[in-house]
Amino acid sequence: DQELAKLITEKLREIPDFPEPGVLFRDITPLLANGPAFAELIQLLADKYRGKVDAVAGLESRGFILAAPLAISLGVGMLTVRKGGKLPGPVIGVDYELEYGTARMELRPDSVKKDDRVLIIDDVLATGGTANAAMQLIEEAGAKPVAICVLMELLDLGGRAKLPDTQIDALVSF
Ligand code: IMP
Repeated sequence: DQELAKLITEKLREIPDFPEPGVLFRDITPLLANGPAFAELIQLLADKYRGKVDAVAGLESRGFILAAPLAISLGVGMLTVRKGGKLPGPVIGVDYELEYGTARMELRPDSVKKDDRVLIIDDVLATGGTANAAMQLIEEAGAKPVAICVLMELLDLGGRAKLPDTQIDALVSF
């Protein structure tokens, strides 16, 4: 995991006051734009999870960018956990609180095989609401979320507290 941490830290960009004043946005696009670095990231992630998962669930939108190549590298399928209203039905959904207002994530339960071991992946774990919603959806669909992998975890926002008894693989923490 040290190699993964180094790769992410080196290629990460930090943008103050985005998308709102006072927020420091962590941006992975420089890593994605670097072909060898992106390939190495996916290779290292595949080495970490090979043989341990039956599907990879990407969280819209940046999670998709990581989940698709990782699923191919692992030889498993990819699940799309999407924002409310994006997937055609039948869907199951979970609503959760944001700092201001609420959000909703949805999943087509028929995209999930019963008892599959599912890895959830996203770029950033902040308050944990999105990842927690994804866990609930995968469980409700009859599969087993085995771990949540994020490139970055923002410790101040306390996301882990919303995800007790869950393996959280945060490659870099701030
Ligand atoms: P949470 O539900 O509060 O944990 O927010 C996590 C979601 O917000 C993830 O899907 C992230 O992509 C996004 N997010 C929150 N903070 C950042 C950031 O600094 N950079 C990129 N994405 C972020």
